Amino acid sequence: MAYQLEKETAISAVIKAAKLCQQVRKDIPPALEKQDKSPVTVADFGSQAIICKVLKEVFPDIPIVGEEDSKELRQETSQDTIKKITTYVQEIIPSAKVDQVLDWIDYGNGTVSHRFWTLDPIDGTKGFLRQDQYAVALALIEDGEVKLGILGCPALTLDSGDTGFIFVAVKGEGSYKMSLSGGDITKLQVVSNDDISRFRFVESVEANHGDQIQQNAIAKKVGITTDSVRVDSQAKYGIVAAGEAALYLRLPSPKYPNYRENIWDHAAGAIVVEEAGGKVTDMYGKPLDFATASKMNDNRGVVVSNGLIHDSVIQALNN
Ligand code: AMP
Ligand code: MG
Repeated sequence: MAYQLEKETAISAVIKAAKLCQQVRKDIPPALEKQDKSPVTVADFGSQAIICKVLKEVFPDIPIVGEEDSKELRQETSQDTIKKITTYVQEIIPSAKVDQVLDWIDYGNGTVSHRFWTLDPIDGTKGFLRQDQYAVALALIEDGEVKLGILGCPALTLDSGDTGFIFVAVKGEGSYKMSLSGGDITKLQVVSNDDISRFRFVESVEANHGDQIQQNAIAKKVGITTDSVRVDSQAKYGIVAAGEAALYLRLPSPKYPNYRENIWDHAAGAIVVEEAGGKVTDMYGKPLDFATASKMNDNRGVVVSNGLIHDSVIQALNN
């Protein structure tokens, strides 16, 4: 089996980070001001610190392209925040010190190269704060190809009724889900077109992260008759991989026509879906470009499907 050490290390890192996120979310006071984003800040940086620390120890030569850097945390006014982050990190890594935590976060500022990790320490920060969905997303990319993807979805409930999953995929070896609390490993397979009850369509909760009018029109055109299921974060990829939806559409928002997608928002999710038999491209059917930069400058929108309906979706989008 390929990528065994990478896989085991990445799973362990994501599980540790997911625990921190869950702990931070548990401690959010019920009367948190709507504008107060501090819990997600703490969880975001804490998650990146832990994952970078774990990866750096085992793979000191593989750069990590992560979403966060410690610049704002190193300012005088952020002392309380970094202390808080360190306290949460210490629940997982008891010896952690403030300076180390800052350095671990910055280890995640690597650049895109022939072999690198890409990390979104909390994807779906708005969902995290709303007590909805979020994901910890980590992928290993070699020569532009995603080889390994780990997607931790601590708050995701699947049709079985269980909550808290980690999705794992290695190139050529299939896609699997495990319960975050341990237990069985299940091989994943995308949904077939005749499984009517699961032939659903997922999109973002945040209307500005897509074009919901067009997304819904396209879903209808390819035969999806039910309303969309709106979910934050790359948990949407997990849902498609698990065969609980046939389509995830993310079309450019009319409000932000020049928006470019980040590689860490898609790499882990994409391999999880592809290894379950699905397909992922941009809205023109072009493969997502993970080789060039942290932004996918030459791609527009993202189309994720069970594979079977992919060509019809691309056709519907370009007519
Ligand atoms: P989701 O939870 O699927 O809506 O996606 C969350 C991600 O959306 C965040 O990680 C952001 O990087 C990304 N995002 C922010 N603004 C936009 C935008 N205008 N269009 C698409 N994605 C965006
Ligand atoms: Mg994100």
